[in-house]
Amino acid sequence: MTTTNGTIENGLPDKKMPMLPKPITNLEIQHNQIFINNEWHQSVSGRTFPVYNPATGEKICDVQEADKADVDKAVEAAKAAFQKGSPWRRLDASGRGKLLHKLGDLLERNRVILATLETMDTGKPFLHAFLVDLEGCIRTLRYFAGWADKIQGKTIPVDESFLCYTVHEPVGVCGAITPWNFPLLMLIWKMAPALCCGNTLVIKPAEQTPLTSLYMGSLIKEAGFPPGVVNIVPGYGPTAGAAITHHPNIDKVAFTGSTEVGKLIKEAASASNLKRVTLELGGKNPCIIDQEQFDKVLEYIQSGKDEGAKLECGGSAVGERGFFIKPTVFSEVNDDMRIAREEIFGPVQSILKFKSLDDVIKRANNSQYGLTAAVFTENLDKALSVASALQSGTVWINCYNALHAQTPFGGFKMSGNGRELGEYALTEYTEVKTVTIKLSQKKL
Ligand code: NAD
Repeated sequence: MTTTNGTIENGLPDKKMPMLPKPITNLEIQHNQIFINNEWHQSVSGRTFPVYNPATGEKICDVQEADKADVDKAVEAAKAAFQKGSPWRRLDASGRGKLLHKLGDLLERNRVILATLETMDTGKPFLHAFLVDLEGCIRTLRYFAGWADKIQGKTIPVDESFLCYTVHEPVGVCGAITPWNFPLLMLIWKMAPALCCGNTLVIKPAEQTPLTSLYMGSLIKEAGFPPGVVNIVPGYGPTAGAAITHHPNIDKVAFTGSTEVGKLIKEAASASNLKRVTLELGGKNPCIIDQEQFDKVLEYIQSGKDEGAKLECGGSAVGERGFFIKPTVFSEVNDDMRIAREEIFGPVQSILKFKSLDDVIKRANNSQYGLTAAVFTENLDKALSVASALQSGTVWINCYNALHAQTPFGGFKMSGNGRELGEYALTEYTEVKTVTIKLSQKKL
């Protein structure tokens, strides 16, 4: 049994696809500026920051660096686009669905370009980006496109002579802050439900991997979203990110990243305007990494050796270029070791022994995290008992990393607040308004 924060392996198209595409060689970077009001801008400060290919360590390009001044401009645009009477607010719900479908079409058309960019930016294999990330993005856009005109309230029977009903309204201007490991997918998990419900957006992609998010700017414009509905501000966390989380005119922040930064985001929300916050935070999982993460993972491997775990394989860097670490397995790990307790976020597996079901459930739950868990058994009773007892946002039985646009995803405990995907995501992007009407006539 293990927990992870889940690389996504579902959604693969038919394996018999006749011709798998190849990445584009020498892809020219077209979009490295700030996207506000459907236009490309230089940063107010005039600063840029470099973006590297982590597989080679080579610089891909410089990107305009947004900070508070640029975030202010983006929020102003998003707020104007959300005003009553704006083209976006006047659009029928079904019209929002059509725009999301159109965006899905454009992602399909540009799938090879986006997968190539994602590969350059994250270092992940091209076919993973093409088959997993892009497929997940397209399916999520289509799923929420279908929801746009099905978001409805209730008529509630109340005492005495009143008619009472609820309406689900968009929250307003939403900030979206994303991590470096699934840059486009984590963006679409936020963008699709936010737009489906009628919100506007200010997006800050991770500074390591902003290129696919920026490319989305051109597709948003081409799809026909009105200016200001989606704005993209590439920059660093403590500057551009913090400007979003502290902003008095941002009504909600959706964040995916580390638990450490998740705590800062809640603090900023409470110190500013008590904006709504949804957090998808840490767990335990393997991934492809930059220099900082590379050093951190090697430090965890050393701690495993120092604390007495047995290194079965791996345990060191591989290759002369990039930031790769050999798949690493430790046995004889006990519950108190750092490699068992903390999120490594690298390809390091710990093997822990257990004697009974009660023992393993107690120990699995003895964690600050609760994102996902899995159990493998042919005994149905055992599988269902374990699923019920685990404190985890998702439990997989005889499978792993099976994620779908239709099913909610999120964490218990310090793995986060709120849910992305599925119908549940809609509640994170809407406010419920209760309308109560006094009737002149008494009940008959
Ligand atoms: P991170 O927390 O360092 O950064 C995430 C984002 O937050 C980046 O855009 C960063 O610029 C921004 N940020 C940093 N400091 C900020 C601040 N003070 N205010 C506002 N924004 C700030 O995470 P990362 O290294 O990019 O990603 C790895 C983490 O993401 C891991 O902990 C992993 O478990 C988690 N993750 C979780 C899920 C999930 O679905 N729960 C999915 C992917 C990744």
